[in-house]
Amino acid sequence: MIDAHTHIGRVKSWSRKLIGTVETGLPELLEYVESQNLEKVVLLPVARSYPDIGEDIVKTDSVLKAYSLHPDKIIPFCAFNPEDSGLREKIREAVKNGCRGFGEHKVETRVNDERNINLFRLCGEHGLPILIHIDNRFNPDFEGFKEVVSKVEETVFIVHGPGWWAQIGGEKTSEVYPRGRISEPGEAVRILEEHRNVYADISAFSGLNAISRDRDFGRRFLSRMSDKLVYGTDFPCINPDGLQFGPDRSHISLLESYNLDEEAFRKITRENILKILRPDEHNAR
Ligand SMILES: [Zn+2]
Repeated sequence: MIDAHTHIGRVKSWSRKLIGTVETGLPELLEYVESQNLEKVVLLPVARSYPDIGEDIVKTDSVLKAYSLHPDKIIPFCAFNPEDSGLREKIREAVKNGCRGFGEHKVETRVNDERNINLFRLCGEHGLPILIHIDNRFNPDFEGFKEVVSKVEETVFIVHGPGWWAQIGGEKTSEVYPRGRISEPGEAVRILEEHRNVYADISAFSGLNAISRDRDFGRRFLSRMSDKLVYGTDFPCINPDGLQFGPDRSHISLLESYNLDEEAFRKITRENILKILRPDEHNAR
């Protein structure tokens, strides 16, 4: 299995049962990989730190350092701000150094802003899938993302976050983490069905909630969309019970509880991410 959504650095706990921040480095990431018997992890930098929410996830250079030490375990991504000067060169350099995707893209620019669109196109030119977080603060918002997918068809997106997963159901809601039964599929499902370049990752609480809030719907959704979903946890973030995503096994246990057919399970936990990554020319050289 491959966990397609991990970080190292400092994150804030949003659990009421664990107050403060959690800091992990490369040794802890490797401990996680070993303890869960993972084949590899996608290690995601974030372009900026957000001290106001206690978040200091490491940047691209640290991810590349980790990759150079453990190329067999770590799949490196890069992340830059859409406003950065020399963006094209930065991306080219990151690709040269082995980066196989872009993200976690988590900036406060509107998702459909021209600067973001330009960044998304650049990633497409380099064959980098973009792992993007959508909520009310970062890359707002879902409506904007609908515009993005209609404009940018040559770039692969792996979407996640509350702003995306709240749209799994068709009922109108302003809840960040809507609960309860889903009477009809929402717009997120339609986008996954209609856009071959859009995938979603089930990481963090938003993904977990979306696929568990209505188990009948969740099972059908996972089976039908097994070509478009990617397993990830958001390690080392903290779950609502104060445990840690990844080592807490919440995502994998949920997937297992649905008894999906073997092929669907394998696609979600391994094959889909391998299919959409930029090919690994770096190690082949
Ligand atoms: Zn994340």
